Amino acid sequence: TSFEVYNLSDEIRRSLEVLKYEAPTEVQRKVIPLALANQDLVVKSQTGSGKTASFGIPICELIEWEEKMPQVLILTPTRELAVQVRDDITNIGRFKRIKAMAVYGKEPFTKQKEELKQKNHVVVGTPGRVIDHIERETLILDKIKYLIIDEADEMLNMGFIDEVESIINELPLNRVTMVFSATLPKDVENLCHKYMKNPINVEI
Ligand code: AMP
Repeated sequence: TSFEVYNLSDEIRRSLEVLKYEAPTEVQRKVIPLALANQDLVVKSQTGSGKTASFGIPICELIEWEEKMPQVLILTPTRELAVQVRDDITNIGRFKRIKAMAVYGKEPFTKQKEELKQKNHVVVGTPGRVIDHIERETLILDKIKYLIIDEADEMLNMGFIDEVESIINELPLNRVTMVFSATLPKDVENLCHKYMKNPINVEI
């Protein structure tokens, strides 16, 4: 299989060429068509499987470029992963001129506040700092259509459950939710059950 089967726009196909992604990985073959169909998904997959592009490619394809407010929120357990995901999305969305930014602790709030005033299609962040920006109204979530929780098991292991739930409660109900996790312990399953609409389970 090549990426041709997904009928992606020229802009996204060009960036996959530049990235030298010639064929989708297994997780990408399973996730891309479902995500393009706006399906809620719980994906059990490991780092290194190509999972970031499995949501990055459909998300970049589906983003409405004209919308000024953030339309995709991605939660990650760590700053390092937030930066990595932001960079991957930026690369995949390069020729569509998709703007992604990362918000995380240990970086000055005001710097992020200024960046949040610009147009951003995608905001990637760690739960604590995302909540700070919500509370201070520097991050507006009214237009979020896609929520992605990356490394959900790690996030809950680190004790972020309350933060994650309070963020989800601020999001529009009319959205697509995708959860990625290496393992599916009970607390991750409970979270999915509580906040998702008939999710499809994808196992790699
Ligand atoms: P991830 O699991 O998202 O951390 O991705 C692992 C590595 O695989 C990253 O360096 C990606 O750039 C790379 N990658 C993702 N998808 C593909 C693909 N379809 N072909 C080749 N490399 C890929």
